[in-house]
Amino acid sequence: MQKINNRGILTVVSGFAGSGKGTLMNRLLEDYDCYALSISATSRSPRPAEKEGVSYFFKTREEFERMIANDELLEHAEYVGNYYGTPKEFVFSKLDEGFDVILEIEIQGAMQIREKFPDTLLVFVMPPGAQELKRRLTGRGTETPDVIEKRMKRAAAESEGIEKYDYIVINDDIDKCTKQLHGIIQAAHFTPSHQAEFIKEVRKELQDMEE
Ligand code: 5GP
Repeated sequence: MQKINNRGILTVVSGFAGSGKGTLMNRLLEDYDCYALSISATSRSPRPAEKEGVSYFFKTREEFERMIANDELLEHAEYVGNYYGTPKEFVFSKLDEGFDVILEIEIQGAMQIREKFPDTLLVFVMPPGAQELKRRLTGRGTETPDVIEKRMKRAAAESEGIEKYDYIVINDDIDKCTKQLHGIIQAAHFTPSHQAEFIKEVRKELQDMEE
C-alpha cells in the first residue's frame, strides 16, 4: 500500500501585479478542496471590492508594526510603500490538518519563507508577455497611472529573481494554468524530503530483514 505523509505542502505563489495570480488562486480553491489560501495583513488601503478578512486583514502602519514586534508574522515585506505580511497561526494549523497552504506573496517574502522552510515549493506566475501585463494593469481601472508605472517598474526588477523559483506557470489560459499549478503542487508530495518518514520506515524494514 502506498503511504504518504499527510502534512500539507507549503507553496508560495508569486507573480507580477497583473499576472492574474489572484484569479488563478480563486480557481484553484474552487476546483480542488485540498488547498487553503493564507490571508495576509497589509497596511495598504482596501480597493472598492475588497473585504476585511477575505482579501486582506487591513491594518494601520502602527498596527502592522505591532504584529511584527509580537512575532505574529511568518514573513513580511514592504511593497510599493505598504507593508504586507503572512500571519503565522493559520499557516501552521492548516498544514497540520493536511491542507496544501498557498501564500500569494511577493519575492522578498518568498525568499524569507524559503530560508526558514527550505522544503517550500516556489511557483512564479508569468503573463504571456509585457504588453499583456500593462494591458491587464490598465484595464483593472483601480490604480492611478503613477501606481501602474511603479508596478511595471517593480515587475522589471522582480523579473530578475524568477530563477530562484522552482517552477513557472504561464497564465494565458486559466483552465490550463489551474490544472498545471495543481499538478505541480501535487507532485511535490512525492519528493524525498516530503516522504522522509516513509523512506526511513522502509529503510529500517530492509535493515531488519538483513539481520
Ligand atoms: P496587492 O496590493 O496588489 O494586493 O499586492 C501587492 C503585492 O504584495 C503582490 O505581489 C502580492 O503577492 C504581495 N503580497 C500580498 N500579501 C503578501 C504577504 O503577506 N507578504 C508578502 N511578502 N507579499 C504579499
